[in-house]
Amino acid sequence: MSIPEIQPQQALDRQRRSAVLIDVREAHERVLGMAEGALGIAMGELIAAAAEHLPDTTVEVLLICQSGVRSLRTAEALRAQGFANVASVAGGTQRWIAESLPMVKPLGGIDADDIDADDIDADFAERYSRHLRLPQVGLEGQRKLESARVLMVGAGGLGSPAAYYLAAAGVGILRIADDDVVDRSNLQRQILHTDARIGTAKVDSAAIALSALNPRTRIEAIAERVSSANVEDLLDGVDIVIDGADNFPARYLLNDACVKLGKPLVYGAVHRFEGQASVFDAGRRRGEAPCYRCLFPEPPPPEAAPNCAEAGVLGVLPGVIGLIQATEAIKLILGIGDPLIGRLLQFDALSMRFRETRLQVDPDCAICASGKAFPGYVDYAVFCAGE
Ligand SMILES: [Zn+2]
Repeated sequence: MSIPEIQPQQALDRQRRSAVLIDVREAHERVLGMAEGALGIAMGELIAAAAEHLPDTTVEVLLICQSGVRSLRTAEALRAQGFANVASVAGGTQRWIAESLPMVKPLGGIDADDIDADDIDADFAERYSRHLRLPQVGLEGQRKLESARVLMVGAGGLGSPAAYYLAAAGVGILRIADDDVVDRSNLQRQILHTDARIGTAKVDSAAIALSALNPRTRIEAIAERVSSANVEDLLDGVDIVIDGADNFPARYLLNDACVKLGKPLVYGAVHRFEGQASVFDAGRRRGEAPCYRCLFPEPPPPEAAPNCAEAGVLGVLPGVIGLIQATEAIKLILGIGDPLIGRLLQFDALSMRFRETRLQVDPDCAICASGKAFPGYVDYAVFCAGE
């Protein structure tokens, strides 16, 4: 005998009389709201301990999930365990919502163990619903994002997409450092800024754009250029540093400070049609992960470096690289996936190809070799005003 499928309205009526309605989705799915009157017990848990949850095998059990597939499978499993009176809600919670039946939002029926009701609200549940549905993020991951502090150096071509997506993703505190003001020539790629904000400090323009996108993210706008004098203050209290300045003086200062203070550095650079990205984590993993100086111990002489203003850059290119940086930052915060540590990812927009190079640790690196005293910061001459 096949499992009966009933309509959401029937399920609501029967539940109100005497039937037990159970939402068999996972806790991170139920956080977005459940059919009114439903108990939340995830499929696996219910099947494994059915007798515990439902001591009376004659009770009428109605199961609901997201779209009606899992509830049907769960019903079959319960039937096999001797529950004779089991039905599945056709179309699941999706149809329940489509038919405007009452929902309990956002937390009704969620196990107290799964959620601390104090630090989640309807805005959180709705805004991050697509994260909450990912088991690899979920509530725990979203809370990690919300308690993360990220330093974004540069509110330009790389910083624009990176900061936009980090704010959208729910990073709690974004500290943005940039001493520049918005210029018309920036707008071809620096999408945080607008024509109306030409002449405004970039950090202020960024704060306006990011707060409009996600008011939950706190923006710390610091209108300063990174230097040996302020680099440690800028890094103070942050979990991750993103280099969006794309110039040699900032790159070496951030590298050296991140090694010294033990913070991961998400690196990105662009030039004409090509870009590259990596994650340097030598400060926390001495001898295992390289730093930027392991690759390039010193910057090139000014006369050998490309003149960025003259070289130009395809406007979309920093968008691609900045988003790779944001992706790496989010992965590091969540502790998921394989970060770009020890790998240099190179991107060629014209051929639309990515190439990956293994990076070696330099055992004699002046900055990250174990046992070496920190040699102090160097302010290299500014010979490229940044992308
Ligand atoms: Zn090194």
